[in-house]
Amino acid sequence: MSTHHPGSPGTAYIDLAAVEGNVRVLREHAPGADLLAVVKADGYGHGLVPCARAAVRGGATWLGTAQLDEALALRDAGIQARILTWLHVPGADFAGALRRDIDLSVAATWDLDAVAAAARTTGRTARVHLKVDTGLGRNGAFGAGFTDLLARARALEAQEAIRVVGVWSHFAYADEPDHPTVRRQEEVFAAAVAEAERAGCRLEVRHLANSAATLTNPRAHYDLVRPGVAVYGLSPVPQLGDPAAYGLRPAMTLVARLALVKDLPAGQGISYGHAYHTDRATRVGLVPLGYADGIPRNATNVGPLSVGGRRLRIAGRVCMDQVLVDLGPDSDAREGDDVVLFGTGAGDTPTAQDWADATGTISYEIVTRLGPRVERVHRGFEEG
Ligand SMILES: *Cc1c(COP(=O)(O)O)cnc(C)c1O
Repeated sequence: MSTHHPGSPGTAYIDLAAVEGNVRVLREHAPGADLLAVVKADGYGHGLVPCARAAVRGGATWLGTAQLDEALALRDAGIQARILTWLHVPGADFAGALRRDIDLSVAATWDLDAVAAAARTTGRTARVHLKVDTGLGRNGAFGAGFTDLLARARALEAQEAIRVVGVWSHFAYADEPDHPTVRRQEEVFAAAVAEAERAGCRLEVRHLANSAATLTNPRAHYDLVRPGVAVYGLSPVPQLGDPAAYGLRPAMTLVARLALVKDLPAGQGISYGHAYHTDRATRVGLVPLGYADGIPRNATNVGPLSVGGRRLRIAGRVCMDQVLVDLGPDSDAREGDDVVLFGTGAGDTPTAQDWADATGTISYEIVTRLGPRVERVHRGFEEG
């Protein structure tokens, strides 16, 4: 694995063939629907453009980002798939979005009116998805607010400023498919779709399913599914099944190299606050990744890693730039040796899910939080 850039403290290898394959598998889980690959947050930390291209190769006909800037970056890269973006604040460059043929979600009359104004400025008809809050209590129009949004949207359709092409929503408990709110949200969603159609909207896509619902809830597939984390090969429902149980392969492997190996006596405290003490004379290794690189500080004494095929743990407190590992008295590890923090799980190496379990979070956060000092190396496809 030693293709590291010498100056980089760590490398996230991204297997684009895994991303492509995961999208194929997700399409098989939702055979009646098109697939929108969510590539927000720099492709969940895996790299926006390379992952978007891999998803398209796997059969995604749509891409989605929370923020408009990432949607524009996809167009700048020459990607022609349909793109939806959904999280805006006043002042957003909706005219720029329309010029680049980007679909826009609206959740309130303020953004609907701003999109319509941009349509008049650009002379284009905006493709709009009405977001309904079916019970997540986050973005989207709630209750009578949706009826108001729909009425305003129909008026703007009559002026040909916009066209309502979608109605969509998002679950609160998709990762607990039997949770009573799931059925309730499905009902509210079905009612909102029916209301829009009765009002005269000719919808292209009704969409509700994230990764968890794509894998576990066919009732929610509708015309388009919107998986994110599963595209990158992580399980959205770890309590129900690991990635392999759903035919998914983790795409990211995080590797660093030992910067120092040294012997310490028994009873020596390690790192700030001496949160770890050697219980025997032993050899410790210094790993040049820390919380500035996305290693959670609460991985102190628990973060799993693998050196020379052996599963070990972080010893002592996670620092800004580095962590230590107790390699054991008989270790033959040397400076420059690879340290696998997480990856596919092959050969008993830890996974992002193991890191999530060790630090009390979800795998999503482990992969999206890697900092800019960690280089990304994309493999599994030759561009051009
Ligand atoms: C992030 C996001 C998704 C993807 O969710 P996953 O759980 O990663 O599959 C889908 N829809 C919306 C609105 C999102 O914000």
